[in-house]
Amino acid sequence: MAKFKPLNENQLVMLPISLHDQLVEGTLEHTISELVEKHLDLSVFDARYKNDETGAAAIHPKILLKVILLAYARGMISSRQIERACQENIIFIALSYGHAPDHSTIAQFISSMQSEVQSIFSNTLLVCEELGLLEGTHFSLDGVKLSANVSKEWSGSIDELKHKRDKLQEKLQRVIAEHTQADKQPEVVVARQMKRERRFQLQVERLNDFLKDREPKRGSNGKEIQSNAVDNESVKSPSSHGVVQGYNAQALVDSKHQVILAAEAFASQDHENLKPMLDDAKKNLVAIGKEPTFFEGKELTADSNYHSLNSLTVCKDEKLDAYIPDIQFRKRDPRFADQAHFKDGVHGRQRPDPKPSPFTVADFSFDAARQVYLCPQGKELSCHARNQTNRHRTYDVYHARVEDCASCPLRAHCLSKADTSRRYLSIQVDTQQPNLIDEMKAKIDSEQGKRIYARRLAIVEPVFANICVQKRMHRFTLRSKRKVDVQWRLFALVHNIAKIHMFGALT
Ligand code: SF4
Repeated sequence: MAKFKPLNENQLVMLPISLHDQLVEGTLEHTISELVEKHLDLSVFDARYKNDETGAAAIHPKILLKVILLAYARGMISSRQIERACQENIIFIALSYGHAPDHSTIAQFISSMQSEVQSIFSNTLLVCEELGLLEGTHFSLDGVKLSANVSKEWSGSIDELKHKRDKLQEKLQRVIAEHTQADKQPEVVVARQMKRERRFQLQVERLNDFLKDREPKRGSNGKEIQSNAVDNESVKSPSSHGVVQGYNAQALVDSKHQVILAAEAFASQDHENLKPMLDDAKKNLVAIGKEPTFFEGKELTADSNYHSLNSLTVCKDEKLDAYIPDIQFRKRDPRFADQAHFKDGVHGRQRPDPKPSPFTVADFSFDAARQVYLCPQGKELSCHARNQTNRHRTYDVYHARVEDCASCPLRAHCLSKADTSRRYLSIQVDTQQPNLIDEMKAKIDSEQGKRIYARRLAIVEPVFANICVQKRMHRFTLRSKRKVDVQWRLFALVHNIAKIHMFGALT
């Protein structure tokens, strides 16, 4: 018969554990601990604590900072996950000196951070500078749209949200009526009805609170954009993975070791964020002893989402050697002439036959005497609107008469869509800075421009892959711009600490 060793779960075992020995030199947790202990100025947190005479002793901010940084580095974003790690994981227990902060302390610490995160970010940047991790000659800017901690279900114009509230109210009345009927039903049915009723009640209350004296949210063109009843600072915007209700998280990266110089979350499009990102980076660089003119003559690369007259003007003012292509630059690049072929081959997608391109401006002639354009059919296009602006240029709009286009034999070739009623023509108007766009086109199409712009991909894209995939920051867990901004900066901080860990040697 088999004989086994005794199983005694009531025995007492004493394991000598040195918390200090758990933080082994050469590990990320050791780097975090050393950095927080010796290089970060934690006095910025002092103003939060007013318990010197009364009140219980608080958990030291360095404990909270250490466990949060390590948790973020390991892809743990939830404060409950961090709390559990501080109870079960010996590394977290060592970092927290066995104090095991609870989830509400952790969440409150993160969400109440404001200028502190900026200060510790600058401290870390100074360490990067001292360790020689910054090159300071080429920078890349990019962003990623991350969902906020809200649902798209709560988005809409003010009228749409009012309509939604009315519908919910109707539903609530129906559920209350059903509930009255169900009173004689078994307890389990009544409980289910009550739960539904409560849910609808909360939803109606939420919308009522939100809609009270609420003004419509306006976009940059003055038109109403969708509000969100849960986090009204977040915006709905298209991204590479569908429409996202959230924020645009930006990072400006140095080329040498991909250290992040500035990180911020915005509720706006990329092309509106270049200036605030440069200002933010300048603030951080001045804090570590650089000159405010630091960017002069340096290279900056950013993708075509940042291409706008405004962005190019900012770069010119900063004397930056910027490489920001327009959206058509690949079409002009002979190296991408057969890109459609590879798309079909690799992904097996069947592309529709290319449409004949509509007539371009060059196909229309201007009649200066009558101030109209003449189309290839000899019909007049009169001025419809003057001095319209988009992010690239100022232009006048001309249009043809509906009746002329309706019977035109060239319709299919002239109009971009079959159901378009008439042809519109946009004519660029000379502005004070019309050449910045053309200068950038020429610059990006040059051999040197292509070579420098190609560096962007290797500098900035891996940073987002590291944060969003490896560190699993694919969704903000907080609400409001201020809080998600803190969360994004903490991730940028963790990224920079990982660079210090890999390429530097803290002393
Ligand atoms: S579609 Fe209209 S604008 Fe175009 S060629 Fe015909 S008439 Fe002219």
